[in-house]
Amino acid sequence: MYLSQLYLKNFRNYNQEHLKFNKNINLIIGSNAQGKTNVLESIYFLGTASSHRTNIDSELVNWKEDGLYLKGELIKNNQEIQLEISLMGRKKEIKVNSNSLQRINDLMGYLNIVIFSPEDLNLVKGSPSLRRKFINIEISQISSYYRHLLGKYGQILKHRNNLLKDIRDKKSPKEMLEVWNQQLIDLGSKIIKKRLESLNKLGILARLMHRKITDGLESLELKYDTELEIDSNSLEEEIKSSFKLKLKEKEDNEIYRGVTTIGPHRDDISLIVNNIDIRKFGSQGQQRTTALALKLAELEFMKGETGEYPILLLDDVFSELDINRRSQLLETIRDKIQTFITSTDLADLDQLKGNHQIFKIKNGSVFEV
Ligand code: ATP
Ligand code: MG
Repeated sequence: MYLSQLYLKNFRNYNQEHLKFNKNINLIIGSNAQGKTNVLESIYFLGTASSHRTNIDSELVNWKEDGLYLKGELIKNNQEIQLEISLMGRKKEIKVNSNSLQRINDLMGYLNIVIFSPEDLNLVKGSPSLRRKFINIEISQISSYYRHLLGKYGQILKHRNNLLKDIRDKKSPKEMLEVWNQQLIDLGSKIIKKRLESLNKLGILARLMHRKITDGLESLELKYDTELEIDSNSLEEEIKSSFKLKLKEKEDNEIYRGVTTIGPHRDDISLIVNNIDIRKFGSQGQQRTTALALKLAELEFMKGETGEYPILLLDDVFSELDINRRSQLLETIRDKIQTFITSTDLADLDQLKGNHQIFKIKNGSVFEV
């Protein structure tokens, strides 16, 4: 699968641009603040109807305009698919082959994307929320059911937290918790089960990638990190009963604090290298290697789940990697994964041989080279 064309109108600092992409490597070159990341963001937006760097859609619209429009052409199994997305005020409209989609969710699965940006270098050492986001986005792209579960769970969590505060402030009776508990446990356990399954597969792939990058010297292990007493093969029912038990145990404490402290919204992924938890004790190099291994594993994981490689967006990270890690990356993508690489300097990219197209970006205008 690859994105053959993209038309942008009033997206961020662009007015109108029509880009024709290479099916292998596309280099997006320009000085700071010219619009390189904006191009990647527009591709991400076309594929997911959301931005990877803001939750506020209106920020994507050119300051001087009222709305934006993107159109992309995708080649999948030798067939063309046209994706369109427009944003006018709060109204978002998405079309696939000129047909409007009823639900934004239905966009998922057409253009799958893996993005690797400087923040992802924090994937290892950063807060648990980054690792949750990583696993959530990954599963969401291949399962609209998972997205639905996450959305519902978020709503229930909010209600339950409000109720906990009301109980603490004696505005509601404790008995009211039961209904919310049941829904929290039911949805939460389904989410955790999905995560365990995905992590089992991803773990194997990440371990392989990691071993290659480190020349077999280090061994990576991914583990689901939760307060629940479960393991990587636990069944949904087992997760539910552990969830229920823990909630009971924590009930008084949660009422006192007014927040839900148990559940997938608090879980994490432990990253163990040679038996050491590198979230806490990893060196810079180990963090980088692991972040890269996770991203490369994500590409293979998606291929396994959907039958096709996603496209890869590399925002400013290529030049941050050393020769060894670069070669591993290039070997993984070579001739099979369409990749978009941003950089301020072409000289950083001389390792890239083969089929590529260069786009120079200056102040929201693109020049093909
Ligand atoms: P860097 O190398 O520093 O990462 P970049 O080329 O990736 O730079 P972008 O993040 O793509 O830069 O942003 C380019 C410019 O777009 C910035 O100067 C920013 O102020 C501008 N910009 C952001 N949002 C909008 C918007 N809604 N309308 C117009 N311009 C915008
Ligand atoms: Mg940038």
